Amino acid sequence: MSKFGWSLPPGVSTRDLPGNEDETCAVCFKQPDDCVCDECKVCFEFGNPRCHKEHGMKLNKAQLVARHEYLLHRAEAKVKETKTELEYIKKTDNPFNREDGEDRGEPPYVFSDKLEDQPDPFDIKLVWG
Ligand SMILES: [Zn+2]
Ligand SMILES: [Zn+2]
Repeated sequence: MSKFGWSLPPGVSTRDLPGNEDETCAVCFKQPDDCVCDECKVCFEFGNPRCHKEHGMKLNKAQLVARHEYLLHRAEAKVKETKTELEYIKKTDNPFNREDGEDRGEPPYVFSDKLEDQPDPFDIKLVWG
């Protein structure tokens, strides 16, 4: 059995599968063994976004749940990161990146004083970015 939990068609390597860079399914965002995608009736692939564009695939409820779980996971990680940064900014006299070369620690603890470098709170992409 392949690490994807199903056998691949001849001539298809795991590298060709979508989302294999980070091992998560490109449609349901679950680990390959937990993928909840249906088999495409046209090309018999699982978890290929192209099948939704070109082969008439529709999302199932488990995929919708899985995608929201992933979204929540990403959003919670973002909240945690933002809280850590906020705490750092509040307790630091000059949280901005300074030209004197003083070590401010590892990123993300380096802040620009230019407005355009800061994320727009009304345009934060938590979703799949
Ligand atoms: Zn999937
Ligand atoms: Zn397909």
